[in-house]
Amino acid sequence: MQSSINPANGALLAQLPLHDDAEVDRSLTAASAAQKSWRKVPVADRCNLLSTMAQVLRANKTDYARLITLEIGKPITESLAEIEKCAVTCDFYAAKAPEFLADEIIPSNASQSGVCFDPLGVVLAIMPWNYPFWQFFRFAAPALAAGNGAILKHAANVPQCAVAIEQAMVQAGCPEGLMRSLLIGSGKVAGMIADDRIAAVTLTGSTQVGQIVAAQAGQALKKQVLELGGSDPFIVLADADIPAAAAMAVKSRYINVGQSCVNAKRFIVEDSVYDAFTAAFIAGVKALKIGDPMDPETQIGPMARANLRDELHDQVVRSINDGAVCALGGAPLDREGSWYAPTVLTDVTPDHTSFREELFGPVASIIRARDADHAVALANQTEFGLGASVWTQDMGAARALMRQIDAGAVFINGMVASDARLPFGGIKKSGYGRELGEYGIREFTNMKTFWIG
Ligand code: NAP
Repeated sequence: MQSSINPANGALLAQLPLHDDAEVDRSLTAASAAQKSWRKVPVADRCNLLSTMAQVLRANKTDYARLITLEIGKPITESLAEIEKCAVTCDFYAAKAPEFLADEIIPSNASQSGVCFDPLGVVLAIMPWNYPFWQFFRFAAPALAAGNGAILKHAANVPQCAVAIEQAMVQAGCPEGLMRSLLIGSGKVAGMIADDRIAAVTLTGSTQVGQIVAAQAGQALKKQVLELGGSDPFIVLADADIPAAAAMAVKSRYINVGQSCVNAKRFIVEDSVYDAFTAAFIAGVKALKIGDPMDPETQIGPMARANLRDELHDQVVRSINDGAVCALGGAPLDREGSWYAPTVLTDVTPDHTSFREELFGPVASIIRARDADHAVALANQTEFGLGASVWTQDMGAARALMRQIDAGAVFINGMVASDARLPFGGIKKSGYGRELGEYGIREFTNMKTFWIG
């Protein structure tokens, strides 16, 4: 059974039976057969599925958003925004996939030569709970447009979202079997990766699980895209607009109750503006509205699971023992469910737990930098490399700094966020490969060279 639990109060919402081995086997066979037909469907017609998918998402937006909020405690306005973003992304690929997948002519000694983009087959998608619809659709919209099939193994704590996603695909007219959502334990994943009916793997999740899945996919020599953990720096230089930077810093850390891979997690602030930024940041955090995640006014709900809250608290305690100063929060909230107080740690240094590890929850770490070069050195002093944000009014300096930062994306005077039009992904232990944009759709294609004499 997979249990669906409301983290706002610990109530059991539903229990869904797991799919057994026979069902997994049938699903892989069906997906493999469906994909063989799907790849022959012209791209423009495959795109019609995405357009209908966008309509289905918008038509059921309230129901899907409610389900997200029930299962993970995400504030309802953010759940609604998540569904809209899925629809926008389906629309984007419906419009752009034919262009992205068009043959590329490359002159050679042939009468004509170049590259065409064929699908790889059925892709196994192992997804996390934190954006239960978005994580799937940002992979699936381009992958399906490119002619692939998809098997979803979702996180165990979002079984109702997992089922709703499959139902939405069916409602949109997805060919039978082309996409399946399997309720299975993570112990079943290795066998699926090794199975010939699976052509490739995409994982969004922790670095630890990324290492396991990468080894299994490597053993089977299968293409993989890994979107893993992050500890994104948010650099504030002395000439930055401090009120604007602090306001966006609060949003960037506490959106999704701090449980996003690209939440800013380490705020690296130049010495001369450290006190002003810290004061403005703490004032912003104090103003966040904590409450029922179904209330449209709420900005901070519960964390998604009790064990994640407990792990976060352990990291906070270790950080304080290491020498970080707890300026705000620092403890679970005293109520039913998985609540944690929005927390600010100041005077954090590279020796502290909250600098070295990813803190996946509503905890900010503020770090003092001597100057811009020191700030970049601190930003890079991490095993992760997902996103980074830089705040300054000197665009020349910003562009130069941007090239020094080891990350998959750098945003100047803005908050790191994914966008269907731009590639998204990390380096170092944040993973490899890209999703979204033109680069993303290419990941699960066979870039086939053609040469015509
Ligand atoms: P997680 O524990 O790694 O789980 C992710 C998925 O992997 C779930 O479906 C999980 O299934 C599955 N899984 C767990 N152990 C597995 C194993 N041994 N073999 C195969 N699959 C396994 O991550 P999470 O706690 O759900 O998500 C938080 C992490 O994801 C954070 O580190 C965050 O930064 C990262 N993340 C990254 C991105 C990105 O785009 N880079 C986006 C969002 C989140 P079960 O639930 O059944 O265990």
